[in-house]
Amino acid sequence: MDQFGRHIDYLRISITERCNERCLYCRPETLNGWRPKPDGMTNQEVLRVVRVAAALGFRKFRLTGGEPLVREQVPELVAGMAAIDGVHCVGLSTNGTRLAELAKPLKEAGLRTVNVSLDTLDPQRYRRLTGGELESVLRGIHAALQAGFERIKINTVLLRGKNEEDIWPLIQFAAEHQLPLRLIELMPVTKKEVLDPSHFLSVAEVMDRLRQRETLVPLPQLRLGHGPAKYYRLEKTGAVVGFIGALTKLDFCDTCNKLRLSADGKIRPCLGHHGEIDLREALRPEVGDDALRTLFEQAMAVKPRTHDFRDSYQPCRPMTAIGG
Ligand code: SAM
Repeated sequence: MDQFGRHIDYLRISITERCNERCLYCRPETLNGWRPKPDGMTNQEVLRVVRVAAALGFRKFRLTGGEPLVREQVPELVAGMAAIDGVHCVGLSTNGTRLAELAKPLKEAGLRTVNVSLDTLDPQRYRRLTGGELESVLRGIHAALQAGFERIKINTVLLRGKNEEDIWPLIQFAAEHQLPLRLIELMPVTKKEVLDPSHFLSVAEVMDRLRQRETLVPLPQLRLGHGPAKYYRLEKTGAVVGFIGALTKLDFCDTCNKLRLSADGKIRPCLGHHGEIDLREALRPEVGDDALRTLFEQAMAVKPRTHDFRDSYQPCRPMTAIGG
């Protein structure tokens, strides 16, 4: 429990700052001057952190980045994590571009859940928004479906003027493949000059628009995984859609259950708050696990009640560096 009574048992681990895409809202081409560091933690170091966290009661772990699948030996890392006592679930957040080749080995290694980012089903818009190829992501999603993961979710960031017309096709795609779709409010986590506030689109506005063509049936009991989405079933299409009102929902942080670990070995208690706790010294082989345990306890103790995104937050590292 943290000081606000939240049960913190979920660790999101960024295993690389590198990414093979350049999403407008995360790590755009125009992010001048920022370069990813070489991957900071070895697989052995990540496994050590997971062992310590699991002994402290962390149960759910998610690999992220950057794009985690540009790193080598991710299936080996997943297998190592899944074998640790206390680890109940290992998940992955990915842009899906390398899933076609990796879905099967990841499933065999013990990966249980996959979140795929997908902001549009239009190939040209996909290229404009991400710099990547939609086709590779669609192949990745099909490979993930075939591999038989427990759960695959699609994550879409809402961008006024950029992908508004994609929301309905994405809902239909989600319904057709029976994949929950999560619509996420844009967060100010990259440099101000590329994050124009006029791109912001609230979940409330999107829900109002959807209500003009569909009935949204709330699913208050539904918790798909460990995230903050509020889920609804769309009566006609049958799609299950989760709304993540990171900016507009004032109770958004009340149920936050996670810490983040950046690829350079820093615990970030809250994505929208600048404090970080560096594990690098404690990760040296000659230092015992007690030091790591103490740093984890410190991170829980300073986890803020809410993020600072509504208070003229000034990002100092892009999302791809912190780990999304
Ligand atoms: N590369 C992986 C992927 O695409 O899922 C993992 C890292 S990515 C940073 C994790 C998630 O963060 C993605 O779903 C992405 O859309 C989301 N994200 C990145 N920047 C964001 C922003 N400014 N606001 C909201 N979500 C963001």
